[in-house]
Formats: sequence, C-alpha cells, structure tokens
Amino acid sequence: MSLETVPKDLRGLRACLLCSLVKTFDQFELDGCENCDEYLHMKHNRDAVYECTSANFDGLLSMMSPEDSWVAKWQRLERFVKGCYAVSVTGQLPPGVVRELRAKGRVYQSRDTSERH
Ligand SMILES: [Zn+2]
Repeated sequence: MSLETVPKDLRGLRACLLCSLVKTFDQFELDGCENCDEYLHMKHNRDAVYECTSANFDGLLSMMSPEDSWVAKWQRLERFVKGCYAVSVTGQLPPGVVRELRAKGRVYQSRDTSERH
C-alpha cells in the first residue's frame, strides 16, 4: 500500500493548522494539504506552508479508514483523507486565512489544545 499522504520522513514534519494532517514540509510544498488546499493554497507556496502548518504538535495518529474510526469522530476528521494526524497542533492560522475561510462558510476550529479558549 502506498499513500501519498503518509509522511515520508520523520524529520521536518509539520501539521496542517486547519485539519491537523501531518506530512513533511516538502510534501506540503509539493502537494499542498489534501483536505484544505482549496482554502490554504500551500501547493508550490513555501510562505503559505510556513504560515498554515506548524512544526509544533503533539500526538500522532494514523487513520486508515476515516469512515468507521472512533478516533476520526473524536477528532472530527470523518471526511478527511487517510493519513497521519496530530492530536493537538500549536499555532494559529493567519487572520487573513481565517477571514477567507469564514467567507467560504468554513468555520475554523483551532487545533491548539494547549490553551483554553
Ligand atoms: Zn489541512
């Protein structure tokens, strides 16, 4: 089984701030985020990768069948691609991106569980 969304390297891993998908920086730059590139535009855009992903995350879970995974439901990931996801991601999307998400009707829920909101 070969999955493009599975991290190819354990160094340089970053987690998407919107969906918490974990890949290497290079993978984000090459493919963007499979779940959110429509909003985050990270493909071939290093600046966006820096802004919309975080190297500071906790926990790593792999999800191979989102449809029937209790982990997926717990992490609200039912409709996301198969891959590795962080349990908690530290950081915030830039305000401009959050505004764009809102304009497109997508509610941004911070994945940062290190502080109470
Ligand atoms: Zn994402």
